[in-house]
Amino acid sequence: MRVELPRRPRVPELFAVVAFILSFCLPGRLLAQPGVAKTRTTLIIFSERRMRDEEWSALFDALKRGVRSESTEAPALGGADFLRGDQIARGTEVSQPLSVYLHGDCSLLPMARTFSPGALGWVWRVRGQIEPFIHVECGEIAQVLGPMAMGLNRKRRDTLMGEAMARVILHEWIHVATQNPEHAKGGVEKAQFSLADLLAYDEEVRRDPRILKRRWNL
Ligand SMILES: [Zn+2]
Repeated sequence: MRVELPRRPRVPELFAVVAFILSFCLPGRLLAQPGVAKTRTTLIIFSERRMRDEEWSALFDALKRGVRSESTEAPALGGADFLRGDQIARGTEVSQPLSVYLHGDCSLLPMARTFSPGALGWVWRVRGQIEPFIHVECGEIAQVLGPMAMGLNRKRRDTLMGEAMARVILHEWIHVATQNPEHAKGGVEKAQFSLADLLAYDEEVRRDPRILKRRWNL
């Protein structure tokens, strides 16, 4: 996940087999992170392709869990409401809006392991400000999770995809909320996500992390 300057071409960086390119680090902090006021943010999520109601529910559930999980590590997130872009009435006024754009197909289907050098998510920085627009590349996330989805029913696949999308959204959201393009060594603010990072909020994976290895090696 990266912070990009406008009109700058996306430059994929290659990492290991489980490749997640999230990093485009910019030097220096834009604003000091401590002291950022807690405010209530409204995330309005727009999907390029139609998503089933169950997929929306899985995403929103994961986002709510993620915000709770990160409340200590990332207090700048504060409280949040989540709205579907396809259901929001024209002229609706919300506090502190943050738009999230889901690109590609956000349905998780089983697929063979492939090498994916693309970004999972990104935000833009314009004139020194990280803009309140988050971009998520569902196709890239689905590629990372695809091998693990083999043999799983639709409900479970919806859950996994929701968990991973939420994790990417939270990462980018922290860039916006703190106006800080830097990354941390661990946790949701890491520059690169492994499969385990993407599913860090998943209860089943937390109970038994060996699931990741087993499925991944199929
Ligand atoms: Zn980032």
